[in-house]
Amino acid sequence: MKKNFGSFYYCANFFDRIVSKSACSPSDAITAFHIASLLLKKFDALQEKNPLVTLSFATDSLRVYYRGQLQFHIQPRKYRTIIWIPGGYSRNLSQEIQKHPHLFPVEGEHISWVLNEEGVDWLMKYLRSNWQPSTVESKESIAHSRHIPGEVRQAILTEFLTSGRWCSGVAGITKRHKVSETMRIEFDHILPHSVGGSNGYWNIQILCSDCNQVKRATAT
Ligand SMILES: [Zn+2]
Repeated sequence: MKKNFGSFYYCANFFDRIVSKSACSPSDAITAFHIASLLLKKFDALQEKNPLVTLSFATDSLRVYYRGQLQFHIQPRKYRTIIWIPGGYSRNLSQEIQKHPHLFPVEGEHISWVLNEEGVDWLMKYLRSNWQPSTVESKESIAHSRHIPGEVRQAILTEFLTSGRWCSGVAGITKRHKVSETMRIEFDHILPHSVGGSNGYWNIQILCSDCNQVKRATAT
């Protein structure tokens, strides 16, 4: 099944940030655009093949989750794309990257590296061999659990709080509306868990408890 990974506005914004920050030669812009689009295409293919991988565009990065845990950010900069691994995330991957300085020019010491075409190839090969669903059991236990990983909750909540506290409403019944500080909020599976909706970032939203009750009552 084709997975949706966030707003296309952010996807456009991603390229915009790469190529429009300052005057540079057209060939630099084309190279930067090429690397970024190659990278996003490969990540899209990766998540398509691997149910444990989830992608999510945010305002200033593409966030890459594995098993519901945020692993790193792919971030657009002026004429380059970087991989940003905040301290504590993907320790093994950041150690491996540091063993290949010729592939990954340093952007920020021990934390972020510039991605060029060879680096992208290396990275995708690494992720394909290290991010495999290890057993059928683990895949099933994740698929059957209703549990929304802490990282996903945190990301959804942060967006809710910073974007103006909007409840999405229930399609066809209630409208999108602002949620006051005193109203109760709940995490909701957009595609219900009972019909196969995942616990991944793209399938979770915040609803006010009134709307959530309406949604539950009208679910077929
Ligand atoms: Zn509501």
